[in-house]
Amino acid sequence: MIVVLMGPPGAGKGTQAARLAERLAVAHVASGDLFREAVAAGTPLGIQAQTYMDRGELVPDDVVVQMVLERLARPDCRRGVILDGFPRTAAQAEALAAALAAQGRRVEAALLIEVPDAAILERMTGRRICRQCQTPYHVKFNPPARPGVCDRCGGELYQRDDDREETVRKRLEVYRAQTLPLVAYYRAQGVLHEIDGLGGLDEVTARLLAALGPGVDRWA
Ligand code: AMP
Repeated sequence: MIVVLMGPPGAGKGTQAARLAERLAVAHVASGDLFREAVAAGTPLGIQAQTYMDRGELVPDDVVVQMVLERLARPDCRRGVILDGFPRTAAQAEALAAALAAQGRRVEAALLIEVPDAAILERMTGRRICRQCQTPYHVKFNPPARPGVCDRCGGELYQRDDDREETVRKRLEVYRAQTLPLVAYYRAQGVLHEIDGLGGLDEVTARLLAALGPGVDRWA
């Protein structure tokens, strides 16, 4: 089972992808997290990615594609994957489709989480991420039990540089220009589902599962 989760930055992709992956017992692969890990580890990939990330721009397609395909080749992805933040461009979608086709696999569903810009700005400025395990929180909508501390691993929560307002606006622009064509791409493939991303976390998760259909538990 390969599911692509799409939506503007701040639509709740990370949170929902983690929930879906847990519920369906498949891997959660987030390209942004892979980059942040590389940046934290100071690898050549991280050094290359950081300047783009700090400006709210997309990392070049060839770099992203190679990194994600390597991750998808790992054993934990065999049962299935929720892809979060990848693909982000038509070129990435085509590279993914080609790599999957070579293994007789395909993207079964592309879930587009839709949220208006005003709601996104409110969400982003309150977002906090665990420095250790990358679990996302929100100071208002999804707070940890103890402020500033990760429920899951006790790590320190922080605000990402790219969650600052100016960067968020830039990322929304980039999203519109480069990622919206993907919506048309997956619609043409007949796998697109548009999901209302407003409301509680449980409501949105339920909508996503409903879009995957009643047979979803048998996929994995
Ligand atoms: P995210 O956590 O998904 O919002 O990603 C944070 C940043 O990582 C983005 O603003 C991009 O600079 C970079 N990034 C993550 N995924 C991709 C991708 N699929 N293509 C290009 N850049 C990406």
